[in-house]
Amino acid sequence: MVTLTKRERDCLFSIAEISSGKRMARLFEVSKKINVSGPTTLNLVRRLEKKNLIRNNRGVITITQKGMYSYKSILLIHRCFESIFSEAGINAEVACKNAGMFDYNIGQDVGKMLLNILKVSKCPHGKPINGIS
Ligand SMILES: [Zn+2]
Repeated sequence: MVTLTKRERDCLFSIAEISSGKRMARLFEVSKKINVSGPTTLNLVRRLEKKNLIRNNRGVITITQKGMYSYKSILLIHRCFESIFSEAGINAEVACKNAGMFDYNIGQDVGKMLLNILKVSKCPHGKPINGIS
C-alpha cells in the first residue's frame, strides 16, 4: 500500500476524477479543484510522481496504473465508510468529508470485509460501492 498524506490523497482523487471524463488533467484545474495554490499543487504533483502514481508532462497530468489502483482502493473504503456514516443518519456531504479524513490510511482488505456487512450497494451519492471501475 502506498503511504499518502491527506493533501496527496485529495490531489490524487481530483486527478482521477478529472481523468475519468477521459480528459487530461491540467495542473491549474487540479489546483482549483483541491483549492490550493499553484506552487503547492505542483509540489503535491511532484510527490505523487515520485511515488509513481501520476505523470506530469509540462502541466498535463496523467494517472498511472499504480495510481488508478491506489485511487480505486481508497475509493472503495471511502464509499464503505460513507455508507456506514449515512446509515447512522449523517448527511451525505458530512459523511463524505469525514470519510475523506482517514480513508487513505485504511488497509484494502478492511474495505473488502466491510463490504460484507453493508446493507446498501450504493454510497450516499448514489455511486456503486462494489465493482468500482
Ligand atoms: Zn464521498
